[in-house]
Amino acid sequence: MPMPSTIRVACAEILALLLAATCAGCDQPETMLCEACRRQLVPAPLELRTPAGLRVRAAVPFEAVAARCIRRMKDSGETMAARPLGAVLGDVLRAERGAQTRSRPLVAPIPTSRHSFRARGYRVPELLLRRAGEQSERLLSVSRRSADQRGLDADQRIANVRASMRARRQGSGQAVMLVDDVMTTGATFDEGARALRAAGFHVVAGVALAATPRHSERNANASGTRRK
Ligand SMILES: [Zn+2]
Repeated sequence: MPMPSTIRVACAEILALLLAATCAGCDQPETMLCEACRRQLVPAPLELRTPAGLRVRAAVPFEAVAARCIRRMKDSGETMAARPLGAVLGDVLRAERGAQTRSRPLVAPIPTSRHSFRARGYRVPELLLRRAGEQSERLLSVSRRSADQRGLDADQRIANVRASMRARRQGSGQAVMLVDDVMTTGATFDEGARALRAAGFHVVAGVALAATPRHSERNANASGTRRK
């Protein structure tokens, strides 16, 4: 019996997809992530501060293999990359939680705008946390649409995200760690922390999968030239 044409087309498309797969880190063909790139995806934590002073631990600098894998996950819909990236985030998240002496903090992802969720079909910080095997709670939601942060400088980013989030429930002093995929200036973390504090939570730290080198440089040079 001949194969119906719709199934034949679907099979051809799936085959083409598999053959078109390339390593998310180096474009080597026919693999989603090659062994050499997998070995490079290990935590290299950075200690950072947001403009408002929240301490953030980032698992890796946003560069090389990690940056390419993150772009594939965020911009090309390659959710497979979330597994090794989530593992790196999970290591640093657990280290940060271990450093907390009070109670075990809740883990809250930075919220995804409706627009981004519709475009991707998934929320990047939540996907990473799930792949890390971590429980998280959606404590924040986006209350106002803000422009794409790319292309904005540090002050413009702060203005762009101001009052753009709200807490989804009231807290009573519970400790919270905020989690995001990429930290650039830290303005997004500050807005999340502001919204949670306004609702009665105690934000103890941020954890990011990656931080842009521009941010790390700015931090390294911050003494004496710190912007107000
Ligand atoms: Zn590779």
